[in-house]
Amino acid sequence: MRVLELTDLTKLYGDLRAVDGLSFTVDRGEVVGLIGPNGAGKTTTLQCVAGIQRPGSGTIRIDGHDIVRDPIEAKRRLAFIPDEPQLFDYLTVTEHLRLVARLYQVTDADARIPSLLEQLELAGKHSALPGELSRGMRQKLALGCALLHRPVALLCDEPLTGLDPLGIRRVKQTILACARDGAAVLVSSHLLHLVEEICGRIVIIANGKKVADGTLDELSRHPGLAGAHLEQIFLRATGQDAEATGEP
Ligand code: ATP
Repeated sequence: MRVLELTDLTKLYGDLRAVDGLSFTVDRGEVVGLIGPNGAGKTTTLQCVAGIQRPGSGTIRIDGHDIVRDPIEAKRRLAFIPDEPQLFDYLTVTEHLRLVARLYQVTDADARIPSLLEQLELAGKHSALPGELSRGMRQKLALGCALLHRPVALLCDEPLTGLDPLGIRRVKQTILACARDGAAVLVSSHLLHLVEEICGRIVIIANGKKVADGTLDELSRHPGLAGAHLEQIFLRATGQDAEATGEP
């Protein structure tokens, strides 16, 4: 079942077409990787899907709800973890989770918060303010806030930045568990090994346009790419393979 549906999304900043006629879908239980060079339009796309940026044209549906026409119902089903965790300076870890619980009307939050804190290794920091947390801990708190209301669509922008090896493993497991529980997950990252590992399908964009969409197997069916890693596929699809030649 289709949970995320982008149709002909275009977003302009002045004359710049940051996103240009982009269409793709993410189904229930799917983890899709959104990758592209710097400035390709990934963050802009995620911000439009999350309702932070208004699309110039095109439509975005979350579980059937249009993010522009029906934003409350769309956002109720959605969680967005930006690359820089956005937290409140004067709320503790637990207060962040309680606030999210109230905003999203999560009725079993009191029962779930302790286990969520354990899962994210934040139990010892429950009364800490964001300024007293490391970057990785802030990232984990943002993830906790995102998961508390059991979103059906999860958007992650560079979810592993600043995490230690155990944190990386936990976040990967958490993303996969979310998908197993039925969420549609869209992950944007430059860490191609992460994308290769956890994403069942990959959408590659360049200059705001989709240049490839498929499983790793499908993407490597092009001439000269048999058995290729995602890095080679990415460089070919984005027209950067010639530039990469000769590099160590
Ligand atoms: P990166 O991998 O470097 O994070 P990205 O694929 O996420 O890049 P975006 O941040 O979406 O790319 O940017 C796409 C284009 O839109 C870039 O050319 C960028 O300079 C431009 N852009 C992004 N945000 C704004 C803004 N608020 N105002 C004007 N231009 C912007």
